[in-house]
Amino acid sequence: MPLDGGISGVVSKQPRGAAEIVLNSTEPAARRRFTWAHELGHVVERGSVASDEDYSFTDARGNDYNLHEFFADEFAGALLMPEDEITRLEIVGYSIAQQARYFGVSIPAVRERHKRLSNQPSPASL
Ligand SMILES: [Zn+2]
Repeated sequence: MPLDGGISGVVSKQPRGAAEIVLNSTEPAARRRFTWAHELGHVVERGSVASDEDYSFTDARGNDYNLHEFFADEFAGALLMPEDEITRLEIVGYSIAQQARYFGVSIPAVRERHKRLSNQPSPASL
């Protein structure tokens, strides 16, 4: 649905209920795709790491960046742009723009994923 105030997405859950994710329908598909994966990251972090059954996150540009947001962004990046597939695309010569189209995300999202991967090499690549 359309959301005001620069809000990209909201995720909330109440005890014994299912988590609900709302995406801003006015944003481009590539952004909504990343926001969906980000909100799913909140569901995973709250459910499996913190065993929290009652929470709500509202994601807007300029929000405070904390460990919850870091986890959700890392989750989204790994879900939508798996490291093995990024490596394969690099080898066959895909540009950043081609990778963004391939993964269905924005160019800044691909750049951020590359930055994170180069800062934190996976155990398999050490
Ligand atoms: Zn968030």
